[in-house]
Amino acid sequence: MSETVAELAGLKAENECLKMRLVETREQAAVREKVLKAGIAELERLYLNLEKKMAEVREKGYEIKMLNALNEIIATASRYLELDLILQPTLDMVVEATERLLHARDKDVSVSGGIFLVEDNGLVLAALRGIRPELLGCGGKVEAGTCICGAALASRETVYTPFCLTDPRHTFMHPGGLQDHAHVAIPLNSGNEIVGVLFLYFTPAGYEPEPADNAIFESFGGFIGVHIGKARLYATVKDLAIHDGLTGLYTRVNFEEFLTLELGRAKRHERTFALLMMDIDSFKRLNDTYGHQFGDSVLKAVSRLITKNLRNFDVAGRYGGEEFCVLAPEAGADGGTAAAERLRALVEAESFIVQGAVAAHSGVTISIGVAAYPLDGQTAAELIRAADSALYEAKRAGRNMVCRYTGVKPTAV
Ligand code: GH3
Ligand code: MG
Ligand code: MG
Repeated sequence: MSETVAELAGLKAENECLKMRLVETREQAAVREKVLKAGIAELERLYLNLEKKMAEVREKGYEIKMLNALNEIIATASRYLELDLILQPTLDMVVEATERLLHARDKDVSVSGGIFLVEDNGLVLAALRGIRPELLGCGGKVEAGTCICGAALASRETVYTPFCLTDPRHTFMHPGGLQDHAHVAIPLNSGNEIVGVLFLYFTPAGYEPEPADNAIFESFGGFIGVHIGKARLYATVKDLAIHDGLTGLYTRVNFEEFLTLELGRAKRHERTFALLMMDIDSFKRLNDTYGHQFGDSVLKAVSRLITKNLRNFDVAGRYGGEEFCVLAPEAGADGGTAAAERLRALVEAESFIVQGAVAAHSGVTISIGVAAYPLDGQTAAELIRAADSALYEAKRAGRNMVCRYTGVKPTAV
């Protein structure tokens, strides 16, 4: 009996012990669960952080790609000063970079495009990438306000359509062969002036640019516009160095270069050429009587008469204020004198307009001195001196006259 009691007591104690363990285990489990939950929450937080960081890295990567693209485009556009050397390679870069950037944002679109330049208030196609010109449907010319690119020119703002072929603003119909596409037209600004329009096609249609895409398109447009402006300025400066601003004839420096070249050619091939130096008679009086503006218009009219009545390979220059010069290759002294006489007579017969009214005859005449290679000189300086001396003789002998250099003393013809 006492054994049974002892056994029971033992079992009870064991039971108590087990109960205590159970409580302990439950408590431990609760603690572990708490720790585990905290661990999971921490992991989730870390995961979210990681995702944010990865998005930031992706964004940074995109920004770097964007900067690289812009860098490449600036480098290409800055490589040359001539417009025809920069437009096509720059457009190629823009199209390739746009496609690359869109692919980096998981947009599976292919890109093509072109550049229009502003001419006479309209657009003229200057470069194309990835599209055959005949598929544009505009024949390479677009008026302001017409179609998507013309709308960008007229509004001075970027114009965009996701579905080109069904957009009522898209008035030029592409002949068959061009599938529907999204179309963005970006005005190209140089200062306050719009100098062109860059357009990009995105296939398949429906592509919607995000703010980042629009920002990069605007940047492309900005760079291209500035470089077109710079190239145009360079062309003007270059032209002014070669051509006289008032008359459009070659400048004295350029004329003398032609003279030197022609001298070398004539020497090598034993050929002849004539040099004509001409000067408007009593031009000072003309200026004093009718004003400088009229004087300028006479200078322009006389230059037009000269260039219109020369052979294709003759070269005319403005030698000084109211002095012109002509180089007539293959002409001898006789041919040069005949040409000079023709020009003199044409100027004499010309009526000049004074303040809108045709002056019956405003008395504009020219005197011309003629020298010929090899007869009158062996160097450019000798020939110029000879023609000048003949011109001086024409003035001295009464003006409105052609004089031919004859060595010792030029003779009037
Ligand atoms: P001559 O018959 O001896 O040649 O007399 P001229 O009056 O033509 O010659 P002069 O050398 O006395 O005067 C030339 C004038 O040409 C003086 C100058 O003011 C004028 N002139 C020079 N360049 C220009 C220009 O670009 N425009 C105008 N309107 N006049 C000019
Ligand atoms: Mg003079
Ligand atoms: Mg004169």
